[in-house]
Formats: sequence, C-alpha cells, structure tokens
Amino acid sequence: MAVHMTKQKYCIYCSEDKPIDSFSREHIWPDSLGGDYLDSFWQTDSVCRTCNSTAGVFVDAKFIKSFFVASERWNGEYIYIDPNSPSSTSVPLAYIGHPLGGPKIEGEVPELYLGPCGTQILHVRPKYDETWFGYVSGDPRKQSKQKWAGKVYITLNTTNPFWAETTFESARRRFKKSDIFITNGITQTANGKTYAYALDREAVEHSSHTSYIEWMENESLRGESFHFQPEISLNFEIRFLAKLALAVGCQLFDDGFGLSDSGVFLRKCFREANYEKQKSYGLKGTGYLGAKSTDFDKFLAWPGGWKLMVINSAAGLALSVRTPNGKCMTIPITNEKKYTQTLDKSYENGLIWIAIPALKLGIGPIELADYIAHKQGHLVQEALAEAEKYIVDESSFPPCA
Ligand SMILES: [Zn+2]
Repeated sequence: MAVHMTKQKYCIYCSEDKPIDSFSREHIWPDSLGGDYLDSFWQTDSVCRTCNSTAGVFVDAKFIKSFFVASERWNGEYIYIDPNSPSSTSVPLAYIGHPLGGPKIEGEVPELYLGPCGTQILHVRPKYDETWFGYVSGDPRKQSKQKWAGKVYITLNTTNPFWAETTFESARRRFKKSDIFITNGITQTANGKTYAYALDREAVEHSSHTSYIEWMENESLRGESFHFQPEISLNFEIRFLAKLALAVGCQLFDDGFGLSDSGVFLRKCFREANYEKQKSYGLKGTGYLGAKSTDFDKFLAWPGGWKLMVINSAAGLALSVRTPNGKCMTIPITNEKKYTQTLDKSYENGLIWIAIPALKLGIGPIELADYIAHKQGHLVQEALAEAEKYIVDESSFPPCA
C-alpha cells in the first residue's frame, strides 16, 4: 500500500506542524492600520489559517477596535483629507460609547460616534454576545457575516456640502452593511449622488426609528451634553505586541526562532487570554497607558501614521510601535546573543517602517537617524517627502457652518 505523505510546515503562532495547504498569508501589522502597504518584511506565509483568523479576531481586532486606537485613528487622518475631493476621502469616526438613557429596544444596541464638524452618528446594531466587551461595535466576526448590520442615524451638524459628503462617505464606508438615514439636512451631494435617505416621518415603518430620532433631537435641542459609557478595556494591546514581536523575530532570523526560549515565551504571552495569568509571566516593555507623550515623542511620530521600529541595543532586540499621536509602546523580542549578534549594523541604529492607512501607503525600511534628519529638515528622504505632499493645512478646509 502506498503511503502518501502530505508535506508539513511549521506554524509560528501555534508551534505545530500542519499540512502545507492549511497555511495562509498573515499580515503581521493589521490591514486596517495600513499593513497591506508595508513591504514584505511585514508579511509571512508561516501562519496556519486557523491561527490567522483566531489571532485576527481575538488579538488584532481587540487592539484595532479598542477605544484608544479608535481615538488615535480619528485624530490622525484629517490631515490627509483632499479638500478638492471630499467623496474620495473617508475619515475614521470617533467612537464615543453607549448612551446612558435613550430608547431601550430589545435586541438592539445603540452606539454613538462623532463625525466631521461634531456630527452625531448613532449606529444601532444587533445585540451580540456581550462578552465582546472592549470591542467597538461588538463581535467582529458577526459584523462581517451578518447580512444586516443595523441602522445608522446621522444628524448633520453642518450644511456645508463638503463636510456633508465627507460625513456620508465616512459613515457609508464604516457601516458597510447598515441602512443609513439622515435625520435632517442634505441627502444629495452637489453632483446629484444620493448617499442616504431622509426619513419620511409619515411613512416610518419601524417604530424604533422614531424613538431614536426623537431622543437624539431632544437631547441636542436641550443643548445638554449626552452621557455615555465608553467600553474601555485596559489590556487591549499586550497580546497584540507579543504577537508582533514573535512574528518579527521569525522574519529577522527564521521560523526556528519560534522554538527558541524567546519565541516560546512570546508565544505564551500572545496566546494567554487570561490577563492575570499573563501578567504573572513577567513580560517586559511599555504598554499604551504607560507610554510617554512628550514634545519629542510627538516630534518622532509620523502624522496619521503608525511608526514601527526594530532596534538592537545593548539591552537586546526590541520592537516599538509609535502611534499617530506620539505614544510609544515597546516590547523586547530577544536578548539571546546567538540571534542578536547576527543582525547587521542598521538594526543598531534602529530601522523603521511607517504605515499610513489614510494614504494607503507604507514606507520603509529607513534608518532612524535618516528619519530624524528628515524631520529636522537636514536631509530629505524621498519617500517621506512624497507622503508629506498630501498633508493638508487644516486652515484650507471649508468652515463647518
Ligand atoms: Zn497555527
């Protein structure tokens, strides 16, 4: 009897050998934060499909959909709006949280976001299993699979067509499968494109429409501030950073790094869902809330971009992630000499990559010193100068009113 041997391959995330056809391309840095556009260093084929999707939901999405990362994105992307083409740009919406008060309708969860000009956007989504605490919009798997993903009410805070269109476009891209309604104002753009429909109050089919709209109107008419409960999970980034460090280690050396002491340790931290247990493992580094944000930190940040740096110092090899607002999270990759000694000198100076989601652009690798020289205006780096061309002076935007 002939024995057919299926070729096996090592998965760096679960550390198991699996049939070669059960692997898929993993974007180490998430796509929604610009990972698609980074060079091949940030992509690997050594992750099995199961790990790829599990890590995507429980580790990457927990980071991306956290309150803090949602705010980082909101702050960073306005500078890349094209003032001549509002419909070509969408800006991330600022996540505010669950309203305290307002209509309580069985099976529905209202969440408030802010759009351009302080426009209120209420997304009423189906209620999922609420163990997804700390995930903006709830269970990310359900959102992508569900045919109907709720309804969106936009109460425009501007009559300016530029901002109205940018707001429509942003909401449409953010809530792809939801029905979108404008509760006031413009529903068509200057070029006649219809983005959403004004609600015909007489013909409102679902009574829940009226209750949400009346509540939004009453709250804003009274000029009182809405009261909200954001969902904040404080340990949203630890597993994500450990995952990045493990994958980067395997890219720098080879997949065998996954079996080293450092690799095994990082995997243990990345796969541990229980925060208390994970804390007891003694993972070093700086998380989001412990990160400083001095003027120099802001100087080192790239506007609207995520700056990823690998640096090999006397203390060991580390990965740092600098947010668009300048916060810097750091995680050690390894201090095992058998690895760190093999790296070339450029890593001692720090090698950086920048992912700019708003521009669909990835830059790097660039040496840190060259990056700083560019920022100081001493030495122009072409790739950086190219991205800078798209930075818009916010004073050129039309007024909201
Ligand atoms: Zn795996």
